[in-house]
Amino acid sequence: MIACDIAIIGGGIIGCAIARELSRYSPQTLVVEAANDIACGTTKANGGLIHSGYDPAPGTMKSKVNARGNKLYSAWSKELGFEFIRTGSMVLAFTQSDCAHLQTLLENGQANGVDGLEIIGPERIHELEPQASPNAIQALYCPHTGIVDPFDVAIAAAENAAANGVEFLLNAPVRSIEQQNDSFILHTPKGDISAKWLINAAGCYADTISHMAGGEHFAIDWRQGNLLVLDKNVTAKSIMPIYPVPTPTTKGVVVMGTVHGNILIGSTAIMREKGDLSCYAADIEELMAGATKLVPSLDVRSSIRQFAGGRAVITDTNDFFIGQSKLQHRLFQAAGIQSPGVASAPAIAEYMVECLRNAGVPLPQNPHFNPIRHAPEDFDIASTEHQDELIQGDPAWGRIVCRCETVPEAEIVAAIHRTPGATSVEGVKRRCRAGMGRCQSGFCQSRVVDILSRELGIAPAKVLLENPGSEIVLGPVKGDD
Ligand SMILES: Cc1cc2nc3c(=O)[nH]c(=O)nc-3n(C[C@H](O)[C@H](O)[C@H](O)COP(=O)(O)OP(=O)(O)OC[C@H]3O[C@@H](n4cnc5c(N)ncnc54)[C@H](O)[C@@H]3O)c2cc1C
Repeated sequence: MIACDIAIIGGGIIGCAIARELSRYSPQTLVVEAANDIACGTTKANGGLIHSGYDPAPGTMKSKVNARGNKLYSAWSKELGFEFIRTGSMVLAFTQSDCAHLQTLLENGQANGVDGLEIIGPERIHELEPQASPNAIQALYCPHTGIVDPFDVAIAAAENAAANGVEFLLNAPVRSIEQQNDSFILHTPKGDISAKWLINAAGCYADTISHMAGGEHFAIDWRQGNLLVLDKNVTAKSIMPIYPVPTPTTKGVVVMGTVHGNILIGSTAIMREKGDLSCYAADIEELMAGATKLVPSLDVRSSIRQFAGGRAVITDTNDFFIGQSKLQHRLFQAAGIQSPGVASAPAIAEYMVECLRNAGVPLPQNPHFNPIRHAPEDFDIASTEHQDELIQGDPAWGRIVCRCETVPEAEIVAAIHRTPGATSVEGVKRRCRAGMGRCQSGFCQSRVVDILSRELGIAPAKVLLENPGSEIVLGPVKGDD
């Protein structure tokens, strides 16, 4: 039996952010994750937009944590060494009724504490973003919106949490939960875990965890979204995120740059069966039409990847559910974390710690807490002098495995040996971008399999693309025993 004070169920951006925030204190904290890696759920399939907080209705939990989360991103990116660009953003209006909506968003934003919002006309729109549609008659400009690589944020938070003493148990889906005296017993295929307090950060499955732990009986729906990634050289290097006027359930199809220099178009929002990660022709058409309306010059056919994710929507509400359970006082919920969960993650973590403290959970300071996590070397963006130094130190820095994104062997090896490290081809891709470029791993996948096999000490046929059962190699072809 593994014993801990606080178990966090779910190693997505929310579980990892909470783990990082809790590592400032000394309880024994364990993150229990069903998958073989962190950031494998909705965290790996979203737009990475750090919305500023003018969209949520004032007074909601979303409004409270979105605006605060956006502010915290500056400090988080500095401390945790991930890229965060405050790009600013515009919501374009094409009709008079759109213009009225901009006014509502402006007032929402002001009520939510978002400063610097401005309604601007066509001249200023094109000054800020020359690629924006000439048909826009007004826009809501927000200087605070930003972009991140969402799995980079989760990985950085998890690495910092681990360095400060948090443990991670992977491949451990919680199958049932018993309540014994003053503890929970979590049953997983990796063994039983005893925890005095439980934090439910299980994303789209937070409803099941809540029921198992004796908490609230809500249900979570899967509001699915498709996204499109465009090739890096498709248009100008970067583009300010451009939104349409939102609907009550979605911010609509947004065109944005990514921190890696691609253009991303996302996202559709349709209720589908839980777990559905398919891309649909109708969604892709909606994305292309929506993007072209905002940025007519965009070559939407230059897509190199389509992917999908599911937003965790608590049935009949549109808000987050964060706090102590009213039915089981040792259970804390971070449920219904649909959009803007990425933008809100640092503030959700901060608020969760406040809830634990208010509930009397002992949180003595961790005297060894170090807020700094150093990002791994990124060969692609290093100066030529630094690239030379790296290669002089280890020739593996000169063996380029992924040509599209210029990822050398040494960077992949480092990704595998970090804590928590990559154990699959997709885990490598999320950490150092091998396979993320134009060829989508057509050239480098077999070499990544080889490196994973060597570094993990397993046969190539055991190397996984992602989940159990996703082996890539069937067996030896030639020159192998
Ligand atoms: C299409 C789309 C676009 C989006 N765009 C944005 C955006 O631009 N900006 C923004 O702020 N937000 C965006 N979001 C929302 C954002 O992605 C989510 O709010 C966020 O990723 C939720 O993180 P999470 O950690 O709660 O969930 P997840 O990442 O899903 O993590 C939950 C984890 O719990 C684990 N788990 C589940 N059940 C169990 C169990 N029984 N035992 C152990 N582990 C378990 C899962 O394996 C998973 O790893 C978007 C979402 C979608 C779908």
